[in-house]
Amino acid sequence: MKCLICGSESANEVCNKCIRLEKILYQKEWNFKEGMLIKKTEAFRIAISNLRISGRAAICDNPKGLNARIDNISYYLLNVKECSQVTYQGKKTLMVSLEGTGENHYNRYIFLPGFEEGDQLVNAIFDAKTKAASLTERIRQNNGIASRPVEVTPTVASSDFHVNQPAPAPAPAAAPAPAPAPTSTDTVALAGIAEDISEFETKIKKLKVLRDNGILSDEEYEAEKKKLVSIF
Ligand SMILES: [Zn+2]
Repeated sequence: MKCLICGSESANEVCNKCIRLEKILYQKEWNFKEGMLIKKTEAFRIAISNLRISGRAAICDNPKGLNARIDNISYYLLNVKECSQVTYQGKKTLMVSLEGTGENHYNRYIFLPGFEEGDQLVNAIFDAKTKAASLTERIRQNNGIASRPVEVTPTVASSDFHVNQPAPAPAPAAAPAPAPAPTSTDTVALAGIAEDISEFETKIKKLKVLRDNGILSDEEYEAEKKKLVSIF
């Protein structure tokens, strides 16, 4: 299959090269006695990053959990469609629904038996999706792939979860009070320098973000920084 982000050949939805840029945002491990009759303790794990949902869980292709198998999972985060509480092996269980779009359409259902942090997980998925969309966009730009907007589909969560309210949109900045008339040309020059410095700082910060995410190498970062220093 092809990596859903950069398009290169990959064993999973997100290739190993793209995975190098991922940051884990939420992770949990726990044990659970699987099975209705013959109980066997199984180790489960779930991780949400800015690219994937991964870990070890029960997975199958139907929402009833029939023939679910416990396996390692790795899916592109933006294919997470829904989180709900269902009954699985007779117990209330968190289910994450996935839908692959495009050529390789699929539906998968991940069950997390015995998992107790539903609210945290659902909120982590919500938050991480926006990050996944922007990282995907940056990787594609960096690989020279024609930019196509990454669609962030809101994850539906059943009312069983307490979902954090989205942060209120920032209030439009109040019009700045008119600056008092400068008293001398010196103050004007100083104000100009202050603006230059803050612009310089902003640009340096952006470069650092690119470097920290592996988009710029250390050498490229230094080169870009030198360019900036020579401009200002
Ligand atoms: Zn990739």
